[in-house]
Order: sequence, then C-alpha cells, then structure tokens
Amino acid sequence: RKAAEYAKKDEPAVTSDGRRVQVVANIGGVDDAKESQTKGAEGVGLLRSEFIFLGRADAPSEDEQVAIYADCARALAPGQPLVIRTLDVGGDKPLAYLPLGEEDNPFLGLRGVRVGLDRPDTLRPQIRAILRAADEGAKLHVMFPMVATISDWRRAKAMWDEEAEDLGYRGKVSLGIMMEVPSVGVMAKQFAAEEGLDFFSVGSNDLTSYTLAMDRGNAKVAAQVDACDPSILALIGQAAEALHEKGKWIGVCGGVASDPQAVPILVGLGVDELSCSIPAIPSIKAKVRAYSYRECKSLADAALTSATPEEVRALVPLDEV
Ligand code: PEP
Ligand code: MG
Repeated sequence: RKAAEYAKKDEPAVTSDGRRVQVVANIGGVDDAKESQTKGAEGVGLLRSEFIFLGRADAPSEDEQVAIYADCARALAPGQPLVIRTLDVGGDKPLAYLPLGEEDNPFLGLRGVRVGLDRPDTLRPQIRAILRAADEGAKLHVMFPMVATISDWRRAKAMWDEEAEDLGYRGKVSLGIMMEVPSVGVMAKQFAAEEGLDFFSVGSNDLTSYTLAMDRGNAKVAAQVDACDPSILALIGQAAEALHEKGKWIGVCGGVASDPQAVPILVGLGVDELSCSIPAIPSIKAKVRAYSYRECKSLADAALTSATPEEVRALVPLDEV
C-alpha cells in the first residue's frame, strides 16, 4: 500500500467527487523545503521561523533572514505557496538571547505574537526581511502565531503595513493568523470580517491544549489530549464556515493534519489545506483520494454530534486507515 501511495505522491489530492485539498509541508528551514519537494508537497503551509532563531548566540540579522526566506522560496516549484510564520517563542520555546523575564505561567504570558508586539525589535526586522524576500517567485504568505484577540491581529497588521510602506513595497503578500487559542474560533466571524486578513491556519497542538486546559507535556493528562475532541472540531468547522462566507481559506498545520484518521473529518469540515510533516505527505494525499466530499461531510456531521474523541475516532476505523 505504501508503494502505491508513494507512486502517486506528485499527483494532487482530490476527493472522488472532485474537491481539491492542498497538501503542503511543515518545515524548519531550507533543507526541509528541498526535502518536501521530493515527497510531493504542493508548497509549504508552515515555516517555523523560530528554527532560524533557536540554537544561536544572537538573533539573525535582517540580511541573514532575507537570504534564508528567499532560499526557501526558491526551493519550491514556481508559484507554490510559502507560508512563513513569524517568530513563535516563549512558553515551551525560550530564546537564550531574548530574556522575557520570569513568569508564573509562561503558557498564558508572553508567547508568539505577543513577544513581537512587546519587543518590536524582534518582529520589525523579520517583517522587513520577509518583505525584501517577497520577490523570489513563491507565493508568499505570512501568519502571526498565538493571536488571541482582534487587537493582537490589528497591531501586528499595523506593524506590517508600516514596514511595507517604509520599504515602498507594492506587491501582495497575503496575511493570516494561527488559530491556536479558542477565542479565535469563537470569534471567527469577526476575524473573518477583518480587512487584509486572508486566512487561518489551525495550530491544533496548542488549540487542543488551550481548549481542554491540558498540557500534552504533562504525563498526568497527556493520554486525554486528543485533537479529535468534538470541541476542537467544532471550533475548526465554525471557523471554516465564517472564512468561506468571506471568500477566505482555512488550513490546518498542527499534528492532526498528519493524522490519517482525522483527514476525512477535517476535509468534511471544509478545511482547504493540510500542512503535514514531510514523511506523511504521500499517505495524507492518498487518504483524501479515498473519500468523496459527500462522505467527508457526513463524517464531519457525525463527529460534531459525537460526545467523545473515542466516538469520533470510531467513525474512521483504524483498519481502514
Ligand atoms: C500548533 O500549535 O499546532 C503548531 C503548529 O504550532 P507549534 O509550532 O507550536 O507546534
Ligand atoms: Mg503552536
């Protein structure tokens, strides 16, 4: 079966009744971008830019960042999307040269875009570097991590606009946010109405932790942390609806996008793009092809009325995966 999936890795992922789902890769840098092309990726749905900042003595300069983003863009086939996530540190990802101060509860403190808004000396150079790299052929998208409120988004967008104007940038980089905090799903309509906000990408790892108030790193609760919990699927489904109403799109870049059991349900909820770990790409494409969109929609309906993640998983039996 694996050989058959691999043989079709470069073909698009289309359901048996014609709905196309973009299957793209999660990457940490240029080597991954190249590797993803050999596994059938149709672009990059998540460049975890913090990988460029971690494990160094100091921050990469603006020029260094331009080179890295441009190299990633050039590693993709022309016209493929490259979604760059701005620096996502804090919480479980400390940076030695950027002390954020002691916090009792770092997962509820300075994390993700909050770091960039609190320390514009980190986010502004990154925005400038992305703008300068934006002419390298790939379709560039930028998304901000850990957005919780409309104000987070508006402040990040304002910073983007200021730098774009300062650089005299006239191209089009599409902007979006990670949906990792439940408030974004609850407020999906209001977010979808924001001008200049083009897409959501669901960070199901953090979204699950924050929705269930369970840390997957904590052995006492880890077994119960399942992104197929109906609460998470409801947030995704309602966000998809709100975005589609405005002609915008939604992807999933957390671990659940690489979970074959979840794939037909996510497709049925209206997810347009699945951003997967590189080795999972051929089998996730095969999983999309194995269903009709109609079947996916009835699976999604059944998932949304399920009481537990176990009930959800029973809808897509493992032996069929
Ligand atoms: C997520 O939270 O699902 C996500 C994709 O972000 P991270 O890099 O924190 O896994
Ligand atoms: Mg996350």
